[in-house]
Amino acid sequence: MPGAPVVSSVRLRSPQLERLGDWDLRFVDFVHASRRDLSDALHDAQGLLIDSHVRADSALLELAPDLRALSTISVGTDHIDLVAASQRAVTVTHTPVLSDAVADLTLALILMTARRLGEAVDVVANGGWDDALLGTDLRSKTLLIVGFGRIGREVARRALGFKMHVCAFDARAESEEIAGVERVATLIDGLARADIVSLHVDLNPTTRHLIDGAALAAMKPTAFLINTSRGGVVDQRALTSALVEHRLGGAGLDVLEREPPGAAEPLLAMRNVVVLPHIGSATVETRRAMLDCAIDNLATCLRGEKCEHALA
Ligand code: NAD
Repeated sequence: MPGAPVVSSVRLRSPQLERLGDWDLRFVDFVHASRRDLSDALHDAQGLLIDSHVRADSALLELAPDLRALSTISVGTDHIDLVAASQRAVTVTHTPVLSDAVADLTLALILMTARRLGEAVDVVANGGWDDALLGTDLRSKTLLIVGFGRIGREVARRALGFKMHVCAFDARAESEEIAGVERVATLIDGLARADIVSLHVDLNPTTRHLIDGAALAAMKPTAFLINTSRGGVVDQRALTSALVEHRLGGAGLDVLEREPPGAAEPLLAMRNVVVLPHIGSATVETRRAMLDCAIDNLATCLRGEKCEHALA
């Protein structure tokens, strides 16, 4: 491993650089690099450190025939072709150290939509004052969590503290139970009962547009949809129609199908929609922990050791 060529899509500062020992580290600006630049940087790389903005598809992996370890500074891996990586015997690792930060932001979005906080801030910022801006209590309301994994479970723990009735739907029957959380047998059953639906699935072929027109039609017209997973989980066009036609109460979105959205994106102009710029993990502590975790994952793999954050 000493001197192993490693390519990074993020610039590392001295505390992180010290963790790398004597790797031959090269920074590459993947957004602006030509294929030739990428090829030059990757041709002998053994390790690759990326964030979720870099698409690690088979074409990119082909440029790195010596690659052994691909470490992403994210928990989601939908930007990586895992099949191509496996065929090339590249170990892929991720950073499941952000569940609390994303769960906190999810509760923030739930409160923003239910208590109309975006509207309230706008009223005051525009010189107004309206103490009759009525929202909705969370107490006793039904929250459906779709995807009961690491983040979904943290959201459940918080929502129970708000005295909500928490239901969960997950494709995997064996995912861990939490006392007080009711499992629903089908997504449609859960959607029909929920006052708030919060999405926490990973983006995969079974979850792309999981929330489509039919799913939205199953929801109560007063319900709120919260998405801190990936934009592609929701059919955004169908969501827009449901909101325009008052078939849904509102939405709180940290992720969109296209990021950043164009200025003409209709969701941005809707009073009952809150859009955040994909900041689920964006705290100082969590982003630092993610980077440290990703570097440690890469070092572990390059040493030929088993990494606890390697994907099967
Ligand atoms: P996880 O793997 O622990 O949980 C995902 C759950 O979804 C799993 O339990 C899985 O069984 C379930 N699932 C998969 N397909 C399903 C389907 N078709 N129907 C029902 N359930 C299904 O992942 P996690 O750590 O909880 O993260 C979830 C996702 O959150 C990530 O993959 C990422 O896309 C997203 N995320 C977003 C941000 C942000 O900044 N907004 C930050 C971190 C993660």
